[in-house]
Amino acid sequence: MRRLDLKRAQAARLNTIRDINRQIVLNYVREREPISRAEIARETQLQRSTISAIVEDLKTEGLVEEVGEGESTGGRRPTLLKLRTKEAIALGVSITPTRTTIATSDLAGRVIDQKQFQTDPDPAQTINNVIATLREFTRRNNGSIEGIGVSLPGLCDPSTGTAIYIPYFKWRDLPIAHLIASSANLPVQIDNDANAMAIAELWFGRPEITGARDFIMVMVAEGVGTGIIFDGQVYRGQRGAAGEFGHMVVGEHAPVPCSCGNRDCWEAFSSERSAVARYRNLKGDSKAPLLDFPALVDRAISGGPNAQKALVETAYWLGVGISNLIVGFSPEAVVVGGEIARAWHLIEKALTDTIEHSVRRGLPSARIIPSTLGNNPTLRGALSLVLASKFAAAFAA
Ligand SMILES: [Zn+2]
Repeated sequence: MRRLDLKRAQAARLNTIRDINRQIVLNYVREREPISRAEIARETQLQRSTISAIVEDLKTEGLVEEVGEGESTGGRRPTLLKLRTKEAIALGVSITPTRTTIATSDLAGRVIDQKQFQTDPDPAQTINNVIATLREFTRRNNGSIEGIGVSLPGLCDPSTGTAIYIPYFKWRDLPIAHLIASSANLPVQIDNDANAMAIAELWFGRPEITGARDFIMVMVAEGVGTGIIFDGQVYRGQRGAAGEFGHMVVGEHAPVPCSCGNRDCWEAFSSERSAVARYRNLKGDSKAPLLDFPALVDRAISGGPNAQKALVETAYWLGVGISNLIVGFSPEAVVVGGEIARAWHLIEKALTDTIEHSVRRGLPSARIIPSTLGNNPTLRGALSLVLASKFAAAFAA
């Protein structure tokens, strides 16, 4: 699944030309809506008749619709086109170590309907709960849903739809796509949470990111995961196992054990759990009620000095790992996602100082930016697994 590069798309060859032109037109509508046929023709230098034929097909398929008329440039006022967003088209399932969120969205990725419950450590129970909610949503949407995307907090193989290892619950070799697809009767796409978030940033993020060909998503949650976008698509490695930088060694005696059990992993120094442990240590009261990470961020934002200190120290360790990624990959950007991004104004300096200190050997640095996927980024990721395939290039361009 590769994102179309509009600047290079004209170099495409003849055999699949109609498919290529279709995806180009669809992506112009997606990125520039509302847009007229004439404008698309001008931008792509395709014949007006070709554009019109493609638009008719896209309308028939329910992907594009006409909305009113634009400004006239002399002659008749042009009819404008936009993505068809009348109904739910995708179902997203975000399974995290604590909760599972299921939602529907339209073609543009806007969430329509949403439901949440606690993730059960027993995989059979969680899958049964997921299937029951999926059935409820598909019934409600009368056949408009075209696919299901599932984001998982661990190692996945998207090509076989298998969760290879989910450390929090010790789920192993779980054929999750098959189990859901056979009950829901819809195609199911699964991916690791950080990869799914990277795909969401690539397709639905801010312009600096959707325009980048190479970037790294760093997801800070109960663990730390990374999604690597290389040349407009996810870099996966063998069996989808690339990006497990959460387990790179960055120090000793981390405040919490990593999900793998060790205390020297990046995740053990930079996860939400590590920040909560630091906060507790600063308070020096092991019996104090355990604050969850969102509450810790709230406290830091409202001026709590210990909460701020815990976040800044966590940001320092995040920066250490990100420096290693930058010297290894030289990406255009690194996007930091998760709850911690809400406190960007508090952590940005610690993060960028650490990175600048490390990446000063004449090597190019990268922009470090907070994710803008909102308060449930892994859900946006799950939905993007379905949506991106609609717009992706079915060819190498
Ligand atoms: Zn580890």
